Amino acid sequence: MTQRDYYEVLGVGRNASSDDLKSAFRQKARQLHPDVNKDPDAEERFKELNEAYAVLSDAEKRAAYDRFGHAGVRGATGMPDFSMDFSDLSDIFDFFGFGSFGRSSRRSRNAPRRGADLQYRLDLTFEEAVFGAEKEIEITRDEVCGTCNGSGSEPGTSPTRCSACNGTGEVRQVRQTLLGSMVQVTTCPTCGGQGEIIGTPCHTCQGRGVERRMRRKVVTIPGGVDTGTQIRLAGEGQPGGNGGPHGNLYVVINVKPHEYFKRRDNDIILNLTINIAQATLGAEVQIPTIDGPATLKIPAGTQPGKVLRLRGKGVPHLRNNGRGDQLVALNVEVPTRLTSEQRELFEKLAKSLGSEVHPAERSFLDWLKDALGG
Ligand SMILES: [Zn+2]
Ligand SMILES: [Zn+2]
Repeated sequence: MTQRDYYEVLGVGRNASSDDLKSAFRQKARQLHPDVNKDPDAEERFKELNEAYAVLSDAEKRAAYDRFGHAGVRGATGMPDFSMDFSDLSDIFDFFGFGSFGRSSRRSRNAPRRGADLQYRLDLTFEEAVFGAEKEIEITRDEVCGTCNGSGSEPGTSPTRCSACNGTGEVRQVRQTLLGSMVQVTTCPTCGGQGEIIGTPCHTCQGRGVERRMRRKVVTIPGGVDTGTQIRLAGEGQPGGNGGPHGNLYVVINVKPHEYFKRRDNDIILNLTINIAQATLGAEVQIPTIDGPATLKIPAGTQPGKVLRLRGKGVPHLRNNGRGDQLVALNVEVPTRLTSEQRELFEKLAKSLGSEVHPAERSFLDWLKDALGG
């Protein structure tokens, strides 16, 4: 296998400054880190990148590489001869937000940690979403154990310092790898990074310091929410660690479909079928609205696809006063079954209207699209 030029691997010129090298390395490592890049050759390329950076970031090795190429940095084994302390890179990987790579756990172990957020999916009826509601929800979350106050130790006992890591919570290992010897810092397997060992675990929580509890909570849902609306209940999530704050609880709204109302933002749409006489002569009809029955005036000569607007009969705005409208989309039904009396009347009407036809400029759907704005 021919080895790629280290400058090419990092994508920098031969006179790149050490800052250029560092930022090029960060950028490429972020793309190639095996935790995020699932390409089969990502690991190889990540090793190659590390090797290139390890050589070029060391002034002596860089000078040797510049003069002699890869041969200049190879030892007697034919392998690159350098060692890299991965813990030196930990700040770089902290910067990326990676947890697995030589990151020091000492800093984060005792720092207060915010608890995790929880999510709860709440189903509402159409009416509840429009007008708001008080809903009781049940959430299961961790609570600080009442027996041990979160320490995990049976009351009256106390944890002992971990002898494997001397209480630091991490162990250092020197490994011989393809890239030379590397110091790897890992979480202490004996104490799990805690630095101490619980000799007598609390009998209530088995040493976890928390217990699962079901809690009931009444949530006030404001009028105007829709599917996907999130209501944040601050501090109702999982408890934090080391005295950190609770996470939040997000109640995510799901609105069940209504029998005939449909919603578009703050307007409520009702499809209404009227008969041919109502459309021709006009009429007053009773229709459902979210507030109850209401009278709708249909003007004479109403065409199929006409949309009538009832102001203020829609959904309340979430963030300010006022409501949307109810839109009534009219369809005109052509009768398919006639009584003999109706047939007679239609035959008279047919004679009176004559046999003239005219090509249409617009279709019913065009009308409806225009009226409802797409
Ligand atoms: Zn406990
Ligand atoms: Zn330990």
